[in-house]
Amino acid sequence: MNASSTGARGPTVPPDGVERAAGPSAELRRRAEAARGFLPPEEGLALHHAACALTAEVPGPLMEIGSYCGKSALYLGDAARRTGRVLFCIDHHRGSEENQPGWEWHEPDLVDPAAGRLDTLPHFRRTVHDAGLEDVVVAVVGESATVAGWWTTPLALLFIDGGHGEDPAHRDYECWAPLVAPGGRLAIHDVFPDPADGGRPPFEIYNRALASGAFVELDGCGSLRVLQRLDTPLRPTSRPSVH
Ligand code: SAH
Ligand code: MG
Repeated sequence: MNASSTGARGPTVPPDGVERAAGPSAELRRRAEAARGFLPPEEGLALHHAACALTAEVPGPLMEIGSYCGKSALYLGDAARRTGRVLFCIDHHRGSEENQPGWEWHEPDLVDPAAGRLDTLPHFRRTVHDAGLEDVVVAVVGESATVAGWWTTPLALLFIDGGHGEDPAHRDYECWAPLVAPGGRLAIHDVFPDPADGGRPPFEIYNRALASGAFVELDGCGSLRVLQRLDTPLRPTSRPSVH
């Protein structure tokens, strides 16, 4: 494949080295840090770096599962802009279990009173609009597994940060990890090797990815892990049965 082209369906990816060394602008960083959500700045920068480091030999879009109000989407969206890619952001925008009333991470002002349910979509749109990234960040509003059932385009980078319960996290891994292109990246957030630091499922899917033989670890920052896809199929792995 021509190093400067991703084919008729996607935008042109610049040759290696174009703006890859640059991090996000101070303005973008300020906006990302001010956005509501759950991603420390240094992990956002690591995510940005992971996306910018992809070479033109790995075609395809960036994909985020779990966007909330758009914090991580700013880092990845800026990386998409710099590398001539597009970022798709899947979220039903109704919040995860831990965002619901009575749970630890509930923010009452994010409830749509008419629907009586959480609605982070207006906040996400505003965040992306204000950062000037609407042309490279595409919101896909719905259940992750439903979208996966119809998705066929290989991904240059997949960031999993959706539901952190056992079922949603393992489903995201099972549905989406096989779609990461050879040479592409699988980034997983909230990976806590020590149970005292956080829930198990993101750590479990990180382990499944490594055990599949199709991914090797490249980088990490805080609870973010960045893996690279090898040019081999995923060996089937099962969910751990004991918690
Ligand atoms: N990346 C965000 C945080 C995401 S929080 C940040 O940088 O701040 C997790 C998000 O995943 C929530 O917005 C929730 O609505 C979404 N989510 C949880 N389960 C989902 C599912 N099964 N399908 C789609 N979105 C889901
Ligand atoms: Mg997270």
